[in-house]
Amino acid sequence: MDCCGHEGPGGGDARFDVVKVADGVHAAVASPAYKVNCNTAIIEIDDGVMIVDTHSKPSAARVIVERLRDLTPKPVRYVVNTHFHWDHWHGNEVYPAAYPGADIVTNQITREAMLKKGLKRIQDHVRQVPAEIATLKADLAAAPNATQRAKLDADLRLAESYLREVTALKPALPTIAFEQTMKLYRRDREIHLLHLGRAHTEGDVFVYLPKDKVVITGDALIGWTPFMGDGYPDEWAATLDRLAQLDFTHIIMGHGNVAGREWLGTFRSYVHEMVEAVRQEAATGATLDEVKPRVVAKLAPRHEKAFAAYADYRPWRTGVLANIERTFAMVS
Ligand SMILES: [Zn+2]
Repeated sequence: MDCCGHEGPGGGDARFDVVKVADGVHAAVASPAYKVNCNTAIIEIDDGVMIVDTHSKPSAARVIVERLRDLTPKPVRYVVNTHFHWDHWHGNEVYPAAYPGADIVTNQITREAMLKKGLKRIQDHVRQVPAEIATLKADLAAAPNATQRAKLDADLRLAESYLREVTALKPALPTIAFEQTMKLYRRDREIHLLHLGRAHTEGDVFVYLPKDKVVITGDALIGWTPFMGDGYPDEWAATLDRLAQLDFTHIIMGHGNVAGREWLGTFRSYVHEMVEAVRQEAATGATLDEVKPRVVAKLAPRHEKAFAAYADYRPWRTGVLANIERTFAMVS
């Protein structure tokens, strides 16, 4: 494993640990950043490279393009997007620019979600980030000590550079879309792109390398409390059960370190128990405000520690409250 320190050409917060997961398969694990970056999987095939997911901005994808040169001289032929969220596809444009002819691949559902929701959200960011910048400036002016000033000042610069990037974004939509499954049979590797049901979004794509026993999950499985704002909490566990039927030993997740199979069980039991707890409380006629503390109290003893690895960056309690809200809206 090598580490960190590589910044985008214009500076920024895109830092990655490149970790070997199998022969010719690497994970670029993103460090926590002010504007979150997803992980990337780098899969070598006989005549090129497949990249899975492209982060929240082009400068972050450019860091990966630079790091790639340390790994292989092969060109990127395929870029897969696991879902339509900004932090997984805003860097797409970098690949066809750096590697003419590179195809961007996802399933039909996700491509449609990019068209209907993703493009609009880019404009939302362009509109909303100035307010975020104004708040950071006000907080900075009122900051009580040097430590807080330094942190707010760094966040402010990152927000400003993100605004410049998102304003100039040239969204590169997928050039290939598949229905349920797409399989690549190369001389040296088999790659399955699968849709296993709804979970984090309506179109989650899993990338499965059966011979290498590696699966890439996007945000259907991550290292911290899941974001469910566009998700299907009551279908999530069943989708993960389909994932569990595959034979693999290593999981490259959308966020967080590379994990083993045991994390799938831990994460799945959190999702399942959270949904069941909300369902039970909702069935008693309790209001959302009553349900929230009861479900948190019920789940904390078993689950809070499991999600402690990123507690400073994405606290479990903040995540679970948002999860309860989404689930309550869907099951009550
Ligand atoms: Zn994500």
